[in-house]
Amino acid sequence: MNVYEIVVIGSGPAGWTAGIYGVRAGLGVLVIEGDQPGGQLTITTKVDNYPGFPDGVNGAELMEKMKKQAVNLGVEVKRGVVKGIGLETSFLVKLNSREKIEARSVIVATGARARWLEIPGEKELMGKGVSGCATCDGMFFKDGEVAVIGGGNSAVEEALFLAKFAKKVYVVHRRDELRANKTEQKRLFDNSKIEMVWNSKVKEFLGKENLEGLRLMDKEGEKILKVEGAFVAIGRDPATEFLKGVVELMESGHVKTGFLETETMTSVEGIFAAGDCVDKTFRQAIVAAGAGCKAGMEVEKWLTNRGE
Ligand code: NAP
Repeated sequence: MNVYEIVVIGSGPAGWTAGIYGVRAGLGVLVIEGDQPGGQLTITTKVDNYPGFPDGVNGAELMEKMKKQAVNLGVEVKRGVVKGIGLETSFLVKLNSREKIEARSVIVATGARARWLEIPGEKELMGKGVSGCATCDGMFFKDGEVAVIGGGNSAVEEALFLAKFAKKVYVVHRRDELRANKTEQKRLFDNSKIEMVWNSKVKEFLGKENLEGLRLMDKEGEKILKVEGAFVAIGRDPATEFLKGVVELMESGHVKTGFLETETMTSVEGIFAAGDCVDKTFRQAIVAAGAGCKAGMEVEKWLTNRGE
């Protein structure tokens, strides 16, 4: 069996950057892409805050460029989803295909995925009006009435994007104040197609074949909001289920790092982690890329110190 010096799990900015630093240090690196190759940026629109792109860059294109750079430098890539890590003398990374890959070290860069409301109608109407991605599905609601659920930057971004096509966009938020930053809030409030629905919780997605509306609960009681599209944008959870019982996790599911006087080593020596699976605070591509760099450098140091 081929033994890699580093197996990177995840192919977002943290994963590719860790891979780049690994191969540049002369190590054999395999990146396992996961169920959403390229990660969260592949479903955003234009990225304006990643340095080096004066006119902004499409998220999917940015990820393609990172992958190409890593592959050009010698990173190997494998499609697959990791189901577990065996803690033998070296690590055994177990894929959903039942394949096992041996690694001297592992960098977990699995990122985060969308949270859902888990209310009646959500699963049933997924793809029939209920969505988690305006960029992917917004066009289906040209001149229609849609709702975005949430109050963070993602919700605002989704609403502004949808307002380009839809006739009307409601933003349904459970409080009377948005969490999104002030600049984005101003853009939202300035858009005449967007209307806020404050202090409202969504209780049910209504409709049989297709979404017909939302059952809302506010201080006065229940209300029906008629929409044909609803976009859930209520945050993200770290993709770390497969690490339960392997490394120490925070209550939120984020990976604990900083062991053995490093920044990126987890509670298991030789397993490192970087990016949104660790980061509760910043959750930005540039921060994830920086963390991937740290993980790549710390792995190299760790392997060298062990004489591997
Ligand atoms: P977020 O900042 O955690 O916001 C989640 C929103 O959903 C909050 O307003 C929250 O309400 C609401 N929410 C959570 N659970 C809910 C539930 N069960 N029912 C109803 N509402 C619920 O998540 P995000 O908007 O996905 O953003 C994640 C991170 O990415 C943030 O750091 C954000 O700044 C960043 N981001 C940046 C950009 C950019 O810079 N261009 C774009 C998108 C995201 P409460 O406010 O009441 O808690």
